[in-house]
Amino acid sequence: MPKKHYLFTPGPTPVPPAVSAAESRPLIHHRTAEFSALFEAASRRLQWLFDTAEPVLVLTGSGTCAMEAALVNLMRRGGQVLVVLGGKFGERWGEIARAYGLEIVPLDVPWGETLSADQLEAALAEHPQATAVCLTQVESSTGVLFDIQALARVAQRRGALAIVDGITGIGAHRFHFDAWKVDAAVCGSQKALGMPPGLAFVALSPRAWEAAERCDLPRYYLDLRAYRKALRDATTPFTPAISLVAALEQALIELQQTGLEPLWRRHQILADATRLGAQALGLELLAKADPCNILTTILAPPNVDVNRLLALLRDDLGVSFVGGQGPLKGRILRIGHLGFFNPFDIVTALAALETGLHRLGYEFTIGAGVRAAHAYLIEHGAEAF
Ligand SMILES: *Cc1c(COP(=O)(O)O)cnc(C)c1O
Repeated sequence: MPKKHYLFTPGPTPVPPAVSAAESRPLIHHRTAEFSALFEAASRRLQWLFDTAEPVLVLTGSGTCAMEAALVNLMRRGGQVLVVLGGKFGERWGEIARAYGLEIVPLDVPWGETLSADQLEAALAEHPQATAVCLTQVESSTGVLFDIQALARVAQRRGALAIVDGITGIGAHRFHFDAWKVDAAVCGSQKALGMPPGLAFVALSPRAWEAAERCDLPRYYLDLRAYRKALRDATTPFTPAISLVAALEQALIELQQTGLEPLWRRHQILADATRLGAQALGLELLAKADPCNILTTILAPPNVDVNRLLALLRDDLGVSFVGGQGPLKGRILRIGHLGFFNPFDIVTALAALETGLHRLGYEFTIGAGVRAAHAYLIEHGAEAF
């Protein structure tokens, strides 16, 4: 029998069958009425997902492509940008800014912790020259959720643009682009949308569009003005990933059938169950105060080699979790549950974790994690199917 594979990673995530089917439809040309109708429908649905009246632009590339697009369209040469660190993706904002010669004000946050509005306020007061703040809604390397509503409000008050990496957050956690006065938000296809990788999305506020007109950083493929202009004609400036646009439309139809509130609620329920299951095994979570709902970050138990555990799960059992990045390499294990997941998947993930831990000699009551999660899901999980 072929090995059955289970993808419990925070991107890419499992793809629903109808989305894969849409992606494999015969190719159409992109300068046609048929493509334009598809593209226009998908763009409208993206506005629903971001909760915005602004256009949401579709780029061909991974999430980082949209991060770079946001920065190069909003900053001026040599400008100062405040970058909130706290994980690998916060650091990525800094790396992109550095690549364009921007002056970076790093705001350090211990990995596994969040940032308060007061801390941001103090940093911006100290650096009034910073014209933008780079934030991450869900820092997937640590499993921490940042309060974008509160942080964007501070940025707004201090006259800095709030640029948000919502790549794993949007579609899994509450997010309101317009109401929260976010200036730029980016998202990627292979996370909560449950699509293959390859598309990135970006929205700008009216304030950010003004900055995009004044911006003088080099940009060509990522000049967002070209994408906005093309979108008015229901198309893209360059050849889009046509098959992925078809998949996008299907993925968004399915998300809309669920609805935003139930979508966010489902992620909450599945995350609560996973955390309970891990703790019932005597495991400790990394993100204690502000855990996100897209993945569960578990500290490696003493005497268990995480890399061996991950390899055993992946190679022998067909189950993919991921380890830590940067300073957390070898110290944590991450179980993704964003996108196309339901309660039975969580039970499976915990059963796999127990199997791996047992094989490596970790002592616990077999079934304790599964039982805790399953009991919770039977009580509270009806909405998560
Ligand atoms: C996945 C991810 C990214 C970007 O990744 P790509 O590999 O470029 O798609 C950026 N930020 C966060 C928070 C992510 O989870």
